[in-house]
Amino acid sequence: MAQDLVLKQRSELLNDLCASGLSEPLEKVMDVLLARGELSWEDYTNVSVQGRSLYTNARHLLDLVYAKGEAACQAFFVALRQIQTPEDPGPVTRTLLTQRPGLVRELQGCLDGALEALLESECFTQEDCRDILLHIHTPSQQARRLLDLVSSKGDSAANVILRYIEQKQNNLKQETTTPKELLKYQKKLRSSILAQSSFISTYGGTGHMSLDDIYTEGKLELAHDCKYQGHLGLEDIVAMTGTVNEEADTVLVSGDAGSGKSTLLQRLHLLWARGAALQQFVLLFPFSCRKLNSELDELSVQELLFRHCCWPDCEQDEIFRFILDHPHLVVIMFDSLDELKQSFSDERRLCSPTQPAPVHVLLFNLLQGSLLKGVLKLVTSRPEAVGPMLRMHLRKELFLKGFSPEGINCFIKKQHRDSLVASKVLASIQANTALFGLCHSPVLCWIVSQCHKELLGCGDGTPQTITDVYLMILQHFLQHQSPPKCSRGPSWLKDHLLGILHLGKLAFQGVESSCYIFASTDLDTCCVTDQDICAGFLTQTKDIPSHQSLRYEFLHVTMQCFFAALYIVLSNNTNRSTVAELFELKDVGFSSTCFGSCLSADQQQGLVEAPNLQITATFVCGLLSQRHRHLWLDCAPTPTVERKAQQVVRCLHKGMQKHFKSIPKPVEGEKKSMHAMPGFVWLVKCIYEMRESNIAEEALSKLDVDHLKLTYCNIGPVECTALAFVLQHLRSPAGIQLDNNSVGDVGVEQLLPCLHICKSLYLRNNNITDEGIRKLIAKGIQCDNFQKIALFNNKLTDACTQHISHLLKTKQNFLSLRLGNNCITSEGAKQLAMGLECNHSLMYLGLWGNKIGDSGAEAIASALEGSKTLVWLSLVGNGVGSIGARALSKTLKTCPSLEDLWLTENCITKEGVESLVQALQHNKGVKSVWLKNNLLSPEEVEEMTQQESRLVF
Ligand code: ADP
Repeated sequence: MAQDLVLKQRSELLNDLCASGLSEPLEKVMDVLLARGELSWEDYTNVSVQGRSLYTNARHLLDLVYAKGEAACQAFFVALRQIQTPEDPGPVTRTLLTQRPGLVRELQGCLDGALEALLESECFTQEDCRDILLHIHTPSQQARRLLDLVSSKGDSAANVILRYIEQKQNNLKQETTTPKELLKYQKKLRSSILAQSSFISTYGGTGHMSLDDIYTEGKLELAHDCKYQGHLGLEDIVAMTGTVNEEADTVLVSGDAGSGKSTLLQRLHLLWARGAALQQFVLLFPFSCRKLNSELDELSVQELLFRHCCWPDCEQDEIFRFILDHPHLVVIMFDSLDELKQSFSDERRLCSPTQPAPVHVLLFNLLQGSLLKGVLKLVTSRPEAVGPMLRMHLRKELFLKGFSPEGINCFIKKQHRDSLVASKVLASIQANTALFGLCHSPVLCWIVSQCHKELLGCGDGTPQTITDVYLMILQHFLQHQSPPKCSRGPSWLKDHLLGILHLGKLAFQGVESSCYIFASTDLDTCCVTDQDICAGFLTQTKDIPSHQSLRYEFLHVTMQCFFAALYIVLSNNTNRSTVAELFELKDVGFSSTCFGSCLSADQQQGLVEAPNLQITATFVCGLLSQRHRHLWLDCAPTPTVERKAQQVVRCLHKGMQKHFKSIPKPVEGEKKSMHAMPGFVWLVKCIYEMRESNIAEEALSKLDVDHLKLTYCNIGPVECTALAFVLQHLRSPAGIQLDNNSVGDVGVEQLLPCLHICKSLYLRNNNITDEGIRKLIAKGIQCDNFQKIALFNNKLTDACTQHISHLLKTKQNFLSLRLGNNCITSEGAKQLAMGLECNHSLMYLGLWGNKIGDSGAEAIASALEGSKTLVWLSLVGNGVGSIGARALSKTLKTCPSLEDLWLTENCITKEGVESLVQALQHNKGVKSVWLKNNLLSPEEVEEMTQQESRLVF
């Protein structure tokens, strides 16, 4: 039990958290626990008390997780594992170690196939293969050598080999165990899924599109393993990579609305049905939670599978028996768990697969493993809608992050086969970085691409916000349906006002009641006519049971939210308090508001957020902004629109103030810092939709912090645009901490407008490359306040060092540069040294986990000789030997300000340490030189420690 371990290993754990003397490991662990909902903000502030000793804070944390119970303790160990050094092998490589005997046995008979798989994935070279297959070795020795080499190559190679073995075992099992009637059922299931998944469903208004023609790979990331840097493909979703709980059967793919979750599942269905992927599963059952909402009967699991996916022509019981006996050969997929009316609960346990129950109860029992244990369940959801209770039952979680910049390129080219049009559209998107940021979201990329004519025709007025993009498609569809009588002005809106209100009412009522599929009677109630349907925003729901009449849904849930927002802005029939209620959902008592009925118990308690209401509120902000208010002139009474706009501004202001009030008072002499709570980034995005500087200024007028912490907040380029728009109005310069997000190069560019107000910028683990750094520095050197940067664990190479060097030469007030865990070699170090030589302000320099070697260390050491400002230098894990150590000794001697020198995990021998000892005799200011894990025997360590107590081994 993890809880016992927290008790028994207390001193080791304290050591893990505090031995470095830095608060960072403790903070990082708490960040992860906060992000996973295991700690509340209040817990966080109780533990992290500034001015109290690090060990005391760490002890408080251990007491707290222990008191919270087993789940919190498990989460604590996961978090601790995550933050440990990169030398710790990745999770998959660890599996190679723990399962070694079995793997050696498996591999002996199929070495050729395994090597072929490694070659194909480019993890092995031909030479590696020749090495393994040397005839002097027995097959088992060859298998062991193969595992050693795979381990040394890291997680992606380990993954290939584990997948290969898994596949082999499954093929074998399938060959021996699949009965005939099952194969017949499999064939029927495959052909039904093939028919359902070949075309993409949201192209209703504009014709069907084959998924093969349009599918573009999205970015997948593991939620619990920031260190896994390899590319994750579709098969990795169901593979062992990134497993955090081996007992659990449920894999979650989470992503924002429109990030492509449904499309990704559809792709998996199609590939399985074709026999092109996931072939380790004999049966795949696809479900949409949206559609499950309309199942009102109580069903058994057997009925659920057969009635909703594919009915067996005969031998039902045998087929179900096969599923029960071979759970590992079956996968069930549930799309959009967030759209299920009920939120996850594990109160009612079912154990019998024949026991009928309401569908949501079946679903929850499947996810937590009470039913069909061993069957893999793959679920998609928006992250805000997943509470801590479900998280306990997850095998792993992956984030779907939408398109990469290359993905946008590829998608637009697939959309526009005419290469001239494609390159014009791309040029126009790239010319507007805010729009480029928006296009990382596939649904927005799709809309922009649909509206290419409008886009190319709008000159400087290209869309900047999400509302702009949706207004563009509104105009596009409406004008497509009936061209405007007069082409000037916003008359297109007035001409279609009635239709908009009909659809708006339907959407609004749907958002209120968590309804996303509408029957003809719902359409009638809202007066939606055939002509309104023809506009293209509604599409017919596919694959509904034959006894039901036609059903409709909006092209995408975000489109429904947009229409709901139009209704809130334009209709006289909404309650006067609707706007306020939309923004104040987190206040107590909101269950009595009109939106109360669409909130689950978890949402009402504030455990999870209500993403559709948040999206609707974001659109309301955009639609009521000054820029768009002229559109409503002839459509709604101006005083009413003005009143609603004022209400929105008041709500945003109030929402921000609530966040600021939560900032704890700093201990005297310490910095005042604010950790963003859930909802903060959303409020910032709402303010950005309005794009009125005075609102941003007003919202921040009472914020008085030195440090703004936005770690693990799912911040991508779009959020960066909004943050920069708002934060540039900070009253005084602050540190902005964006570690562990998905900022990327595009996001970095979006942040530039607020760089002048940024004292320090923390961008650890954010997928940033040299190009992003080039742009950041070009702006950074013009900003007086900008003094610190942390870029740990990005994708930086030597190519960025010339820019950093330029920064060091130019900015004589720059204080801290942290570049750990990137790919900087001796060449890059030499470039950096040129900048360091001319700099007279730098205090902290961190290069942990690069590859600068001896010659890089020599260059850095010589550049820092005589520095009067350097306090802290880390060259941990850089392949530095005694030559480097000797060079650093000169720096030690001549650098009066230096306090800590970190040389852990290098290859320094006794000779190198001796020169450091000598140098230390000339510098009494140095507090410690860290030398753990170098090339010294225990006797040498003993001897050196006796000579100099400031050496730490
Ligand atoms: P989510 O389920 O996350 O809300 P969807 O999968 O419904 O998002 O995606 C919304 C729209 O974005 C799709 O209808 C499609 O037009 C586009 N889209 C999403 N993912 C992809 C993809 N991988 N390739 C091509 N288009 C995509």
